[in-house]
Amino acid sequence: MKLAVIGTGYVGLVTGTCFSDLGNDVTCIDVNQAKVEGLKQGIIPIYEPGLSELVLRNHEEGRLSFTTSVAEAVPDADVVYIAVGTPQSDSGAADLSAVWKVVEDIAPHLREDAVVVVKSTVPVGTNGKVFDLLQKLTGRECHVASNPEFLKEGSAIDDFMYPDRVVCGVRNKKSEEILRQLHAPLLRTAKPILFMSPESSELTKYAANAMLATKISFINEIANLSEKVGADINDVRIGMGHDQRIGFQFLFPGLGYGGSCFPKDVRALTSLSETLDLEPRIMRAVDEVNVHQRSSLVRKIDAHYKGDVAGKTFGVWGLAFKPKTDDIREAPALDLLQYLIEKGAKIMVHDPEAMENIRAMFGDKINKYCENVLEAVEGVDCLAINTEWNEYRTPDFKQLKAKMKEAVIFDGRNLFDLEILEQAGFTYYSVGRRPVK
Ligand code: NAD
Repeated sequence: MKLAVIGTGYVGLVTGTCFSDLGNDVTCIDVNQAKVEGLKQGIIPIYEPGLSELVLRNHEEGRLSFTTSVAEAVPDADVVYIAVGTPQSDSGAADLSAVWKVVEDIAPHLREDAVVVVKSTVPVGTNGKVFDLLQKLTGRECHVASNPEFLKEGSAIDDFMYPDRVVCGVRNKKSEEILRQLHAPLLRTAKPILFMSPESSELTKYAANAMLATKISFINEIANLSEKVGADINDVRIGMGHDQRIGFQFLFPGLGYGGSCFPKDVRALTSLSETLDLEPRIMRAVDEVNVHQRSSLVRKIDAHYKGDVAGKTFGVWGLAFKPKTDDIREAPALDLLQYLIEKGAKIMVHDPEAMENIRAMFGDKINKYCENVLEAVEGVDCLAINTEWNEYRTPDFKQLKAKMKEAVIFDGRNLFDLEILEQAGFTYYSVGRRPVK
């Protein structure tokens, strides 16, 4: 099939690349000229494991191309994917301005039998509004479907290629048939493709993200309680997880969720419920717990130093909102860096992929961007850990202690064993576990 994928970000680029790898002829379109020019020259604008190889191979083999021009790609397309960003607006609702812009841009170029598929996460009812707007602009009933994306940054290619399920919201057989054909190669292991109304499909996406966010806020609340009552959240988590009704997934305590999806999607669902005179009590609490949790490392640091961190040097490991991505949107590390900068601390940071994004945001307010993990602890008063990259998990503690001025670690991801840190002579704060002093 011929596909036009509009919006070449984390979702659009992965979607376009994976569909081209499955033999489709895909054009990825973006308004960002520099991004498109870079992609034409093989420069991948984001870090996502395995993505670069796939983009280069499919581009070289002529199945994947890039343009800024809707007029170039849409007239030939059997399927037009909308994968632009839908960030949070000031009111908490999703900002759909990019979606409406795309609908206006594509309307004059759409083939009569083309299927427009909204992949961006959009509030319930948006698909219907896209259908109405296209009807107004083209003077005919267009095929408009919903196909929300469930991939996770850091394992996006595998999630796309081996989905647990594909959810499609359709209003006619034509859209259903096209989406079934397009996804058939992804569903060889009998994973389901679920057809439902566009409204149900749109709500499924928000409900799934809200459920996952709820699990994270829940375990973080229990972790905070564990600290107060002398329980160990790791034991509690394992004790809970063995119950098959509960399971282990998404029950890791930490610094709360971040990224471009969970925070905005929980708030968009809250906002949608409020506009319908409902009381989204759980969603509000999930967000509130998360906002509080994001600064939990800051509170521990503040308590340890009694608010006096001016002039102290902090080593910071991990800046991305989670491992295996360069994405820093709503990353808990931002809260910590902001606090340290405001308090006049010196900061040395390390992250395997996210440093350039942090440099663009903080520039020389951060004293040193370190290429090497150990460089970031040279002579520091303490180490703070925000992201659970694998390379941070098994340091040589003797070597680490020798490099640091003071052997103090604030760990927002529970990477280390309490007894080992105790024996190695560290002061160690983690989440939901006793401090080691
Ligand atoms: P992103 O910000 O990485 O990418 C969006 C892209 O759209 C940008 O490159 C931007 O330049 C482009 N764009 C904006 N307006 C445009 C226009 N009028 N025409 C063409 N291009 C335009 O966003 P993302 O993370 O890929 O998210 C896209 C959507 O997918 C959002 O709705 C998000 O909620 C959803 N989603 C994201 C993830 C994720 O992990 N990132 C997962 C599932 C769903």
